[in-house]
Amino acid sequence: MNYYGNPITRLIEELGSLPGIGGKSAQRLAFYLIHQPKERVEQLAEAILEARSQVQYCSCCCNLTDEDPCPICSDPRRDHTTIMVVEDPRDMAAYEKTKEYHGLYHVLHGAINPMLGVGPEELKIKELLHRLSENNTVQEVILATNPNVEGEATAMYISRLIKPTGIRVTRIANGVPVGGDLEYIDEVTLSRALEGRREL
Ligand code: ZN
Repeated sequence: MNYYGNPITRLIEELGSLPGIGGKSAQRLAFYLIHQPKERVEQLAEAILEARSQVQYCSCCCNLTDEDPCPICSDPRRDHTTIMVVEDPRDMAAYEKTKEYHGLYHVLHGAINPMLGVGPEELKIKELLHRLSENNTVQEVILATNPNVEGEATAMYISRLIKPTGIRVTRIANGVPVGGDLEYIDEVTLSRALEGRREL
């Protein structure tokens, strides 16, 4: 039903299609935006467009970046012998906050999840293997996928592919609560999980 006129209805529908935003939140946001000064709304719209058009995958670690290679991959002070494999750019950000890890990353953009039809081909696993075959400086790959069923399956899958190369493969410790989401775990717990990592 169209109570508010087409432009507002369309805005509510667009906002409501975003993850985590239900119908009521979409309405609240739409009315909030409509009552803002025009310049404020233009800034928001520009920020969305700019982020979408300028952000790309780093050709090395597949992190989202507006520079290629990304600032972490191109930083000579980082330890280029270690790569930490994470599911999501937000997990990478969580480890960066701990300031305990100084190696490089590889972002998979998800985990193997047969229920949702996500297989290994949908993730940046090929890119990781290519990266390892292209340079022989890497000595350790730390699998820091989430400690849930999908994350464990993904870690096992990747470890089987990397082990024959002779590169050390480790898994973060169980300091991370089972079923936890790395993004929401505090920095101390993440640092401990990293310190206590074990060989796979
Ligand atoms: Zn990178």
